[in-house]
Amino acid sequence: MKATTPSSTRWPTISKDIAALPVRPNLADYDEACAAFTWDEARGGLSGLPGGGVNIAHEAVDRHGAGALADREALRFVRADGTTRSLSYAELAEETGRFASVLRGLGVQRGERVFSLVGRMPALYVAVLGTLKHAAVFCPLFSAFGPEPVRQRLQLGGGRVLITTRALYRRKVAPIRAELPDLRHVLLIDADDEPEPGTLDLAALLDDAPPYGEIAATGPEDMALLHFTSGTTGKPKGAIHVHDAVTAHYATGRFALDLHPDDVYWCTADPGWVTGTSYGIIAPLVHGVTTIVDEEEMDADRWYRILAEQRVTVWYTAPTALRMLMKAGAERAGGHDLSALRFVASVGEPLNPEVVVWGQEAFGLPVHDNWWQTETGGIMISNYPAMDIRPGSMGRPLPGIEAAIVARDETGAPLLRDGEIVLVTDPDAMGELALRPGWPSMFRGYLNEEERYRKCFVGGWYLTGDLARRDDDGYYWFVGRGDDVIKSSGHLIGPFEVESSLMEHDAVAEAGVIGVPDPVAGEVVKAFVELKPGYEASDALRLEIIGFARKRLGAAVAPRLLDFTTALPKTRSGKILRRLLKARELGLPEGDTSTLEVGR
Ligand code: AMP
Repeated sequence: MKATTPSSTRWPTISKDIAALPVRPNLADYDEACAAFTWDEARGGLSGLPGGGVNIAHEAVDRHGAGALADREALRFVRADGTTRSLSYAELAEETGRFASVLRGLGVQRGERVFSLVGRMPALYVAVLGTLKHAAVFCPLFSAFGPEPVRQRLQLGGGRVLITTRALYRRKVAPIRAELPDLRHVLLIDADDEPEPGTLDLAALLDDAPPYGEIAATGPEDMALLHFTSGTTGKPKGAIHVHDAVTAHYATGRFALDLHPDDVYWCTADPGWVTGTSYGIIAPLVHGVTTIVDEEEMDADRWYRILAEQRVTVWYTAPTALRMLMKAGAERAGGHDLSALRFVASVGEPLNPEVVVWGQEAFGLPVHDNWWQTETGGIMISNYPAMDIRPGSMGRPLPGIEAAIVARDETGAPLLRDGEIVLVTDPDAMGELALRPGWPSMFRGYLNEEERYRKCFVGGWYLTGDLARRDDDGYYWFVGRGDDVIKSSGHLIGPFEVESSLMEHDAVAEAGVIGVPDPVAGEVVKAFVELKPGYEASDALRLEIIGFARKRLGAAVAPRLLDFTTALPKTRSGKILRRLLKARELGLPEGDTSTLEVGR
């Protein structure tokens, strides 16, 4: 099936010159690295537990805490006022051991679930790693969730322990506590002299905790993390990840994020979603680098200040944040010394080519897009420091990852011929992005939903639910979520291409595009547009933007309808919720909105 020609191909390739890079990239030659790579070789970068087996916390903390990196800053937290507090690898090893000891004292068993509902503060990071040391399973929740999503996830996940604050407990957990019979212990990180009924004082427990001793023996297939991910509709699913995932976190930290021993690394994602744990905690610590954690919310000036003052070298962020910085204007970066910064990467949503290129203006560096999802547990497709960037492309699969484009039948199901799945080979054609199972961070199930898990695999491939195409040189181009693609007069239109074209107009800060039913065309394209500061919504501007898009995309693909909005609905992790735009437009039920950003 033909997809529209992406507008992104109009952007010139950004060439790389390895000799001009400040450090030699870990992946200097893509083809060579792919040919040489094996997961066993990648495991060579880890130590394994002294008595055999593998444990994420051992790789991330204890082996460094007891070794040459003991005094190195592991985590540096930036408070609201810009001051910082740090934990060295040795301190982190000690504190996480105490936390593990608290769990043991409370009788928490191997494999039981420990949840958090906390902002980005030290207690959260200690709890994640301490839980893993005790062979229990960690499940982080966004602190901004309301009582209903908290209840739903704690129930689905069978949460035994919850770590939270007084205020969050009172507002979000106390009202639903009676509905959570499995939840045995609530540990408050800021308990005061007036005990909250039904809770324990974590600080007091930590003070009394004896040293943990040897990390609990865990095998590669033991469950370590549970991450809830919202499907497009219906209830959230809990993706199960195991301790061997650390092998992929290590390998991808090396190749896709290019982590080197002296790096100061900042991942802006909240641990409430998978990027914030895989790449905000595990991958950088496994590499023994210093990780910045901003305790506050996004703010353009604050972020530039952090990049400059903390001398961040590698920055991993999201398209939505970059678009907000772009909306604020590249000149805001001026006056900040960003000379330490050497690599910028982004994930979570399609990265518009405009933003890739804008990075050069604001940071002096292009932005490197990469692709993955909760289910894959780690980065699967990426742009690498030494590889030319084709703006708008997600890049090429990581060494060790086999990707393909699977043909779809009329109903959108994978096309089978003689029982075999049909792969798309024509570079102009799109299909569903698929991955060959077997990488270590692949999810091992949806908790209590065996059938739903099984359906993700067809003919020896894991089907991602995303539509994409691959060009002649093996670069992958995102077209849209399978559910978001628009069918108009026989054309299949990916919303991302239309949104990217709209963003090329001077007035447009962000855009969300959906299909709305039309008696003639089947569907027509409708755009929702947020304007940059200084522009006023008007009919004239609407017509001008539609005309602009028509010139670039052609009448069949350009939006026929356009509304101005001041707040596109987005998830807390920054993804535009196109299905919600559509439901609202058509007056349909909104489905699961638990991950919706407040006020959207
Ligand atoms: P989640 O599991 O919540 O992290 O969402 C994963 C989904 O986000 C993917 O299946 C894609 O639809 C989207 N996504 C993540 N990264 C990218 C990217 N670089 N380009 C396009 N879409 C992306």
